[in-house]
Amino acid sequence: MSATILTRHLHSHGLDLVTDTHKYRKVVALRPLNKGSVVITSRPLCNPIIFPTHRTQHCETCFRTKGSGSATDYGASAAAGARSGGLELERCSVCKKRYYCDRDCFTVAWKGWHKWVCQDKDMEDLDYEMLKMIVISIERLRNGAFKESKQSGVATATAAAAASHGTGEQESLALTEYVFSTLMGHEAISDPAEIAKYREIATKIREQLIVAKFPFKSETSRGEPPSVAELMRYLCRFHCNNFSIHDSQLFTMAEGTFPVGALFNHSCRPNAIVMYEGQTQVVRTLEDIAVGQEVCTSYVDNGVQRAERRQLLRGKYYFDCLCPRCGGEGSGITTEKTGFRILDDLIEGDQDGEDGKKVDGEWLTKQFETIILPGARSLQAAGPSLQPPTMINRGSFTSYIIHSLVPLIQTGVTEQEYTERLFEIYNALRTTPHCTPKPFTTTVMTNATSFFNTSLEHQSWALASKIGTFILALYLMIYPRHHPLMGLHCFTLAKCLWNDVDGGMTSVRLSHEILKLSHNILTVSHGRTGQNGSLVKEVEEFMRTVETELGS
Ligand SMILES: [Zn+2]
Ligand SMILES: [Zn+2]
Ligand SMILES: [Zn+2]
Repeated sequence: MSATILTRHLHSHGLDLVTDTHKYRKVVALRPLNKGSVVITSRPLCNPIIFPTHRTQHCETCFRTKGSGSATDYGASAAAGARSGGLELERCSVCKKRYYCDRDCFTVAWKGWHKWVCQDKDMEDLDYEMLKMIVISIERLRNGAFKESKQSGVATATAAAAASHGTGEQESLALTEYVFSTLMGHEAISDPAEIAKYREIATKIREQLIVAKFPFKSETSRGEPPSVAELMRYLCRFHCNNFSIHDSQLFTMAEGTFPVGALFNHSCRPNAIVMYEGQTQVVRTLEDIAVGQEVCTSYVDNGVQRAERRQLLRGKYYFDCLCPRCGGEGSGITTEKTGFRILDDLIEGDQDGEDGKKVDGEWLTKQFETIILPGARSLQAAGPSLQPPTMINRGSFTSYIIHSLVPLIQTGVTEQEYTERLFEIYNALRTTPHCTPKPFTTTVMTNATSFFNTSLEHQSWALASKIGTFILALYLMIYPRHHPLMGLHCFTLAKCLWNDVDGGMTSVRLSHEILKLSHNILTVSHGRTGQNGSLVKEVEEFMRTVETELGS
């Protein structure tokens, strides 16, 4: 296995890996990539680890969710989903800690990895378990124990996802292992305390595998497990490159190593997104990407402030971000740098009530009651240059952003036109006087989000519609226009508007507009096939209900 095989694999997906003075290496497009397309699918090096809190909810082998419907949702082959009442899970009768949807999935897990970790007392430690899984996986792969066609579970799900999405070559297990060996581990600059902990884990696991007589029979190992130093390198690489696996609602449920997916660099304004179909990682484009342009995903939430992003990226991945938003050396086009750098100045700041008033539910309710929901009809027409309000408060901010940007998403203008409009808005928000507290900081967003959730719990639809619309304005300002978070939020908001009976037909019409927006975004971020695609179908189904009510 060599670099040539990796190059061939990436080329078959229209990608290239090139060296970069600032970033070590980067993935660039070899051919134009349309927004909403699958760039590549990536497989896990070893079975990902489900968070202890989520174990009872997912099959450890195929990741299908308890109570889920059709088995085809995940592209896996199992009849269990067809049972009435949805998918049922059974736990391992020895450890009583891991759950499986059927005997096939259990057998794959048991033979593949579970029998080596089933009785471990340290199994609750993610590092510990992950390292053991990596060692077992690599050894099994080297001595040919994995038969691509016969391994069900991971491989079946991967093949299904690849068949339904990818256009290029399918990733071989040997390639996965090779790419893992090339990933940066940053051992030299890691925290000494962390390194000491890794050494302890590595030593313990090495001894355990010897005692358990794990068959190290490949040519590389010759009966011996990898050295402690090698095991520590595995852990370092895992830490700098691991992914949190989430479902179609973006709720994280597991952690895994996807070496090919880890080749993509980070940007705080990403043009691609990482999604999952079962255990297969799917990288999708959020916008059209031109030949030669770098394809970037995001390692952190784009909705957190500059200092926090910097801390997260430095602490976990050991780099300072050079993206257009963070604007370091080599970040590219100057105008872009100016525009997105304003964004971070805008969203910084704390939230205090006016005149030092305490921010409680009552105060917030009053604040949001002043918001006037945008008229659905005016959302359909894009005003070329909407005048910013003379004074920016929550209400005028919401109306200004929604009226300026929603029509542009609906008409599908180019990324450049959209970005130009966005920079115009940033400049207006910067220069126009605003009330205190500043209505568009991330702290306000966090508060508004928890208030939104409370109003949903209480089924206060009118209030939820207003807060939800305000949050949408904040998302439009901060996130890329086809970001899945925004699509999901629009779906919830559309339901609030539809449920708000006091809003009458105006509310129904607005719900329809927001649903169209949700559909537009989710088609790009989630696609129309597989587990993620079923969400788009759900939106369509709801859209038909709303349309029936509108009589169209
Ligand atoms: Zn299963
Ligand atoms: Zn067990
Ligand atoms: Zn950045």
